[in-house]
Amino acid sequence: MAVEFTSSWHFDAGVLIDEVNTPQGLARWTGTYRSRLGMAAGAPVEVGPCDVTTALAVRGAVRDLLDAMVDRSVPPRSSLDLVTGQAQRVQAARVSWPPAGPQLEWPDGMGTMDIVSAQVCASATRLLTSPRRELLRRCPAPSCVLFFTALRTGQQWCSPACGNRARVARHSAKTR
Ligand SMILES: [Zn+2]
Repeated sequence: MAVEFTSSWHFDAGVLIDEVNTPQGLARWTGTYRSRLGMAAGAPVEVGPCDVTTALAVRGAVRDLLDAMVDRSVPPRSSLDLVTGQAQRVQAARVSWPPAGPQLEWPDGMGTMDIVSAQVCASATRLLTSPRRELLRRCPAPSCVLFFTALRTGQQWCSPACGNRARVARHSAKTR
């Protein structure tokens, strides 16, 4: 979820797109990842302008941590505090077990963006403190800002399209 959330800011056909910088966009993103966020199928997605501010702050802080990991540096203290503070909030959820199967029950006071922040930040702390962190990469292709986990040995790019673009860029640099 952490990597997916940072990917809400990405290039599409050379244009930088932000999927969560409006309440509508943030609601759409949340709806798409609803089940992975541990939200019940019928749970309402309610976000407003303040939630967009929170989403952008959370995403910036998560990116700081992922950047620090791939650069082998140390992230700003404020970003680390924001992410670990939000991650702790997943502990407010209880597991209930209705006939349809187990599901997370979030406290009434936790709104949509509280759940998104908690889950994204918990995902970030799990990733960064597990052996999978060694697979974290920042895509080196031109016009790409995405992080990915290199699940295939030798995977260099976030997608085949980025690999192709990088090869074309290298070729044209050589012919120049
Ligand atoms: Zn890429």
